Amino acid sequence: MGVVKLPNLVLPSESPAAATQRIYLAFIISEFRIGHPFELSQRSGRKLFNRGKGGDFSKDLRELRAKGWLTAQKVEDTEGLCYSPGRKLTSNSPLHEEWLAFATSLFGNQGLVSKFVNSPVWGHGVFGFRQTLVLGALVYRKQRFRRVDLVNYLQEFMSLSTIDSALKKMVEAKIVSYTDGFYIRSQSWEENLKVFVDGHPGGKARQVRIRHEVKIDRRVYSNLIREGKLTPIERKKLLKNPCVRCGRKSKEVEHFPPVKFGGKDHPHLVWAICHSCNAKTKAFIRKIDKFEVRPGKFHLLDSDIDPNDMLRASLSDGLGKFYRAAEKRDYAEGRRIVEKACSFIQALEADALLWKRRKTRKKRAPGTRVKKGKRPMVRESSRLKY
Ligand SMILES: [Zn+2]
Repeated sequence: MGVVKLPNLVLPSESPAAATQRIYLAFIISEFRIGHPFELSQRSGRKLFNRGKGGDFSKDLRELRAKGWLTAQKVEDTEGLCYSPGRKLTSNSPLHEEWLAFATSLFGNQGLVSKFVNSPVWGHGVFGFRQTLVLGALVYRKQRFRRVDLVNYLQEFMSLSTIDSALKKMVEAKIVSYTDGFYIRSQSWEENLKVFVDGHPGGKARQVRIRHEVKIDRRVYSNLIREGKLTPIERKKLLKNPCVRCGRKSKEVEHFPPVKFGGKDHPHLVWAICHSCNAKTKAFIRKIDKFEVRPGKFHLLDSDIDPNDMLRASLSDGLGKFYRAAEKRDYAEGRRIVEKACSFIQALEADALLWKRRKTRKKRAPGTRVKKGKRPMVRESSRLKY
């Protein structure tokens, strides 16, 4: 009987219901090394498991985080996240052990499906997240299986009909042969699997398409970074704030100073605004003539103050005044306010002091402890007071 030569596959006593989530969780756990959270972006995840653009991969990982299976930290300068086992596992060591064993038997060195990471077999309609386990078992080594062996081995993970349809698919594609009640991988199973996957619309073609999409996504993203534009995540985060002018739900990005006068996508120079307020302000801006900006002088009094904080405070104040001027249709005043804002920015830029990120605070001395508990969340910009 062949089953004894397969990795010992035991479904942990508690696990996510979705087969996709189980596989992702097992994969991340097996990649996780103590003290080194495992970095996985939505894009690389889609490539590794042949997932489409619909956002299912992100959704599954979000759910795993929400339910405590995983925790994640942001990776600097990318939109990727670093994953490590979540509190559900870290607070329950027997369960954690079970998951480690399960993850190793799937994705470890001699794992059941470790050879299929980065393969198109996971795609919809190819083998998917359940049937790939059947595939893994049958091609693991050259050994014979009766149907009942496979059922005993895999019934915790899928229904009998799923096992049967996987077997049928594999026999038809000549990945395994069936004789005298036994299934066995065929001599040329690898080539036949390749032929099957290459010919399947959800297989190779999909993988090529996904790789292409990911490549374009990455290029678009790095262009955004290079041009100093807001990334989709930054934009989404900004638009969680209410409209800076009226306090209602925001939909658009307000630039101050306005784009016409050199405003741009930069975290310090943008606010969230609703459509109707934006339209109102646009009409006002249109009637202000262009002007030449002279860099202003500014003195940094205290080296501990981030000049970008001063800029933001000054711009918030300016923006409030700008809206007041707009309501009075005072174009000369509007222009003076914008001029002041522009010259502050130019002064900072001239000294290369316009940073994207906040200046980091003094580091905690090694060995000293941080205060426990949640850090209070500082969220700027509810509606401006004006
Ligand atoms: Zn508004």
